[in-house]
Formats: sequence, structure tokens, C-alpha cells
Amino acid sequence: MRTKLVVGNWKMNGSLSENKALLNALIPQAHEFSSMAVGVCVPFPYLSQAQSLLRNTSIAWGAQNLSHRASGAFTGEVSGHMLTDFECRYVIVGHSERRALYVEGDDVVADKFIAAQAVGLIPILCVGETLAERQSGITEKVVARQLNAVVSKAGIDAFEKAVIAYEPVWAIGTGQTATPEQAQSVHAFIRNELKSQNASIAERLLVLYGGSVKAGNAAQLCSLPDVDGALVGGASLNAQEFADICRGAISR
Ligand code: PEP
Repeated sequence: MRTKLVVGNWKMNGSLSENKALLNALIPQAHEFSSMAVGVCVPFPYLSQAQSLLRNTSIAWGAQNLSHRASGAFTGEVSGHMLTDFECRYVIVGHSERRALYVEGDDVVADKFIAAQAVGLIPILCVGETLAERQSGITEKVVARQLNAVVSKAGIDAFEKAVIAYEPVWAIGTGQTATPEQAQSVHAFIRNELKSQNASIAERLLVLYGGSVKAGNAAQLCSLPDVDGALVGGASLNAQEFADICRGAISR
């Protein structure tokens, strides 16, 4: 039985005062989530705040991106080592917004995954197809390409300490969630792809669903056999909604 995981992706939102209110509303509810894992991935400037507010709670924190380089003349970049200074547990890599808006290809996503693990961070590797790709019937081909770019560079054993998030691009921030059938089908595909390389790693791997997860659909999605929790964008900015998503994830 895999332990459920729900992670909030705050994206480029928040302020010191808003974050404080959000986390202070979430923390008193955290004891309800002792049978699962919960985390928030916050903007870089707020890592210190997340660290100090969440340090003595069961809620983990992390970042939304990192450089694939270790250090040096890379203006504006943030290394994995810097994230460990703030005791991050997770870092998102390959989010579709990074792939589309910042032109991060499969190769650099694989390098970021490797850079995260090199310093002990757990990468949350995002994969997922666009609407045009789904409509062309190439969802599995796209997801396999994104996945195998990392497997071939990092090795299958690296997935022992990683999380995958299946996030169909057409479902992110649109309110159009994948149906349970669509989600389960791609999640099972991802697990099977990895199973052919190492069955026990694939069996233990957490595969989260992301894309317009709300309190109203979390329980149904998280009850699917190959859905091990959720990566939550917009709804993670509301403490009550996010807590209710967590409740939905553990309720089965
Ligand atoms: C995301 O950005 O990872 C995400 C899933 O966003 P939303 O929940 O807002 O669709």
C-alpha cells in the first residue's frame, strides 16, 4: 500500500502576510493527515518563511524549480544546494509551465532531476500531454518520451527516491479535470512503463495527478488504483480547500 501524498504548488503567488495566514490556517489541521504526506512548494523568496513556520509540523516544503548546474556564473539561477540550506524536501521539475514558457526540454528536465537527487532533494517530475497531443491520440507517446528521457539519463534506480506527477496540460488551471478513466489509464501506463525496468520500484513509486484538483474531485481521483495523491496548483492557495483535498486523499 502506497502512502498518499498531496503537494501544493503555489506558483508565483503569495506574500509574507498571505503565506503566514495560509500556513497558520493549515498547520492546526495537519494532525489529521498523519497517515499521509503533505507538502507545499513555494516561491524561492518564501522558503525561509516556510522553513520557520513548518519546521515543527508534519507538513514538508520545497521549491518549484532548480538549476541543473551546481554553482557558478548563472545569473538568476538557484541551485539544489541552496534549496537544501532551507531544508527543502521536494522540488518540482519539468512543470508544463517551465517546459512551455521557459522552453525547458526533456534533456534539461532530466539534468534538473539528477541535480535535485544529487543533493538529497526529492524531485517531483511532471509529465503530461497538451490538448492537441491528446486529440491526436499521442498521449502515451508523449508521456513515455518525457519519462524515458529521465530514466535513460538518471537510471531506473533513481525512481526509488522520486515522485511523478501526471499533469495533462489541458487540465492545468482550466477547471477541466481529467476524468477518472483518463487519469487512471495514464497513471497505469506510467507505472507499467517503469515496471518493465524494475517492478518493485514501479510498485512503490508515487504517481500524483495534477490538473484542476479541488476538494470536490480529490477523493474520487485519489481513490483510483494508480493515483497516489495530487499536485495542486490554484486550490492550494486556499487553506481550507487544500486541507479538504488532503482529507479527500486519505478518505479511502
Ligand atoms: C499545477 O500547476 O501543478 C496545477 C496542477 O495547477 P491547477 O491545480 O491550478 O490546475
